[in-house]
Amino acid sequence: MGAEDLERETTSFDPKTWVDPKPVAAPAEDTPIEPAKSGGLKPAYIAAPVALLAIAGGAYCLWPNPTEGPAETQTAEATPDAASEPTPTPSTSVRIIQVRGVDDLGFSLEEMGVPTGDAFTMAEEAIAALGTQEQMRVAVELTEDGDAKAVRTISAELPNGTSVKLTRQSDGTFKRENILDAATTRVRSVTGTINQNTFYASAVEAGLPDSLTTPFAKAFSFDFDFQREVALGDTFSATWEETVTESGRNAAPPKLLYVRLDTAKGSKTYFAFTPPDESEQRWFDESGQGNERGLMRTPVDGARITSKYGYRTHPISRAQRKHNGVDFAAPTGTPIYASGDSTVLFAAPRGAAGNFIRLDHGEGMQTWYMHLNAFADGLQPGKAVKQGEIIGYVGTTGGSTGPHLHYEIRINGEPLDPLTFETSEVEALAGEALTMFTTQRDSTKAAINEGD
Ligand SMILES: [Zn+2]
Repeated sequence: MGAEDLERETTSFDPKTWVDPKPVAAPAEDTPIEPAKSGGLKPAYIAAPVALLAIAGGAYCLWPNPTEGPAETQTAEATPDAASEPTPTPSTSVRIIQVRGVDDLGFSLEEMGVPTGDAFTMAEEAIAALGTQEQMRVAVELTEDGDAKAVRTISAELPNGTSVKLTRQSDGTFKRENILDAATTRVRSVTGTINQNTFYASAVEAGLPDSLTTPFAKAFSFDFDFQREVALGDTFSATWEETVTESGRNAAPPKLLYVRLDTAKGSKTYFAFTPPDESEQRWFDESGQGNERGLMRTPVDGARITSKYGYRTHPISRAQRKHNGVDFAAPTGTPIYASGDSTVLFAAPRGAAGNFIRLDHGEGMQTWYMHLNAFADGLQPGKAVKQGEIIGYVGTTGGSTGPHLHYEIRINGEPLDPLTFETSEVEALAGEALTMFTTQRDSTKAAINEGD
């Protein structure tokens, strides 16, 4: 069974119209702010330290802390104010640079006027104390008496996101301490229209952070077939929480709180909530009913699915060819999810099906996935997979004319129409969990309104 059906694969999609599944570069939110696009790995001085530090005073307060002592002036070439500082201190300056490794830092310190021998010894000590050779943003605080410059502190934002400060001790070593970059949490909302070929492109254009497009689409993967039931002109809203440090970094990944999708098929609204005895947030509608079902309606990253205008008016034009499943057009490499909790029955190339996965959901129910570009690592018969887990990636192997997922639901071998197949809902929240949900839902609603 099956193989003969596979020969009938007649999908013809135009990949040229798709956006890149892995958009170039990370959005600014994950990138430390570079004061100057100095480029390259060579350390570069900030051209105008005074101007920069004026910014630094507001945006980069984690750098040498102005409240610590009178010597830590925030002006580049500080002229201690005799009136407020009875004891004149050596003037200090701060340089913010990008460095990678000992030599890089050593040369930079040397260029700043630190005597050569000291510069490299210090660089070695500092890099050892920072514990990484990777490129990072570093603020060097120098003290100077006449021509002699010495390093007082080195503050760095490590590649792992933590900020540390090294203070030079009298014995020449550095004392390392973590700096807490005060972070504030805020709630943001966007509303947009699907006016691009994919939900992904439309959402990013509307201002939804790139990293939230997939979780957004996944929230609706039980309700909507993103290929046929989401189209140009549909609207969406999302509200999320983000924790941003004073220096403009995301201190934590942004988290969706609320999602809404309005289509011709209908509207769905979900609120994020972590039930009391669970560790991860799930989606619940206004009344506390979870979004999950026995099987997903869109078992592929819906954000990447091509929503072409006109699909809705001719949703099953290929029906007369006895198509046993549904096709989801998405760029090669788009993740495919296990539609429900299951055990892998088959995961290998097979004729016209190309790279083919069959999952066993028990009670005679299976789901089939064809034409994959690749299988998820370690996927093999007998492996248990969870609903929503990535099992493979969209491709165009076997009898297929363009990258897409062919998806089937079979009960006792008989194909069912995934578009009309209804599976059971999970249990709704009740009791104390429902009370907690209601409270959180209302505060999310209030936050959305404030955000407007
Ligand atoms: Zn198909």
